[in-house]
Amino acid sequence: MNCFRACCIVLWLLIGVSQAHAEWISRVTEGIMGTRVTVEVWATHAQQGNVAIDAVLTEMRRIDAAMSTYKPSSEVSQVNAQAGRQPVKISAELFNLINQSLEFSRLTQGAFDITYASVGFKYDFINHTGPDQATVNALLPAINYRHLKLDAKQQTIAFSYPAVRIDLGGIAKGYAVDRALLILKQQGITQAFISAGGDSYVLGDRQGQLWMVGIRDPDDASKVIAKLPLSNVAFSTSGDYERYFDEGGTRIHHIINPSSGRPASNVRSATIIADSATRTDGLSKTAFVLGAEAALKLYSQLSGVEAILVTPQGKVLYSQGLATRIQSVRQ
Ligand code: ADP
Ligand code: MG
Repeated sequence: MNCFRACCIVLWLLIGVSQAHAEWISRVTEGIMGTRVTVEVWATHAQQGNVAIDAVLTEMRRIDAAMSTYKPSSEVSQVNAQAGRQPVKISAELFNLINQSLEFSRLTQGAFDITYASVGFKYDFINHTGPDQATVNALLPAINYRHLKLDAKQQTIAFSYPAVRIDLGGIAKGYAVDRALLILKQQGITQAFISAGGDSYVLGDRQGQLWMVGIRDPDDASKVIAKLPLSNVAFSTSGDYERYFDEGGTRIHHIINPSSGRPASNVRSATIIADSATRTDGLSKTAFVLGAEAALKLYSQLSGVEAILVTPQGKVLYSQGLATRIQSVRQ
C-alpha cells in the first residue's frame, strides 16, 4: 500500500516534470487604466509566466490608482483639486512623469500638453457630448503647460492659473508598459508582448522570428495598412477611431489640439516606434496637432524615432528609416 502510494507520487512527479515545458502564457484584461491590457510571455513553465503576469497587472493597477482622473482618490485627482490654490506635495514617480510630460510639451511646441484636460474634461465620449464654444473660450486660457510649476526641491506642483486641470491619459499607459517591461525582465522573461491601450512593447523574438506588428486601417479594424517586423522596441498608435462620436459630419475624438480646445484632425492615425513606450506615447499625439509634414520633420530630428502616419486623405506616410522595413502597404 505504502509502495503503491510512493509509486503514484513518483508517477505524478514525472507527469509534473514532463508538463513543465517552456510555453507562451498570455492574459488579456479589460478595465485597467480604462483600457485593454494584454501580456504575453514565453515562460520556462506556466507558473513562472503567471507569476510574472500577475506582477505586471498589480503594477498597472497601482499606476491606475495613482494617476486616473476617473478616480477621485488618485494622486492626480488630488492635484487637480488643490494645485490651483497652493503647491501640492507629490510622489517622486508622479513628479518625474509630469516633468517628462513638460519635456514632450517643449519638444513638440506644445502639441503634447497634459493641461489639454482643462477643456478636455468637458468631452463625454460615452454620452456623445462636448462643450459649446462659450465654454471652450472660457476654459481655453487654462490649457498651457507653462502654468505647471514644479518645485524639485520641495517635490511639489502648483498651477499658476486656477482653472488648470491635468490628465496623464496621453502618457501613463506608455509609462505603465515601460514599468511592466522592467518587471518582466526582473522575473527572467526574455520574450514578451505587452500592450496597454495603444501602447506596446515587444521583447525578444517569437519562436526565432521577429514580432510581426500590424497597423490597422483607421476606417476598418479588420484591415491592416502596414506590417512591421519588430523586436526590443516600443510602439504606440493613436487614432481618431478610438474614442469618438460623429456630429454633423465632424468627428469629435479624444486627441485635443491645445490651441483650440477642439479635436486635432491633421492625421487620422499615428504610429511611433522608439526605445521606450513613455516616449512613443508622448509623441504619438503630436502629428494630429502639428500635421504630418511638421511631425515627420520633428521625428527625423530625434534619434531612434520612426513613424507611420495616415493622412485625412488616407495616404500612408513613413519616416525615412522605415521605408526599407515595411512589409506590406496599402497605397
Ligand atoms: P491610448 O490612451 O489608447 O493609448 P493615445 O495614446 O492616443 O491613446 O492617448 C489619447 C489620450 O491622450 C486622450 O484620451 C487624452 O487622455 C490624452 N490627450 C488628448 N489630447 C492630448 C494632448 N494634446 N496632449 C497630451 N495628451 C492628450
Ligand atoms: Mg497611448
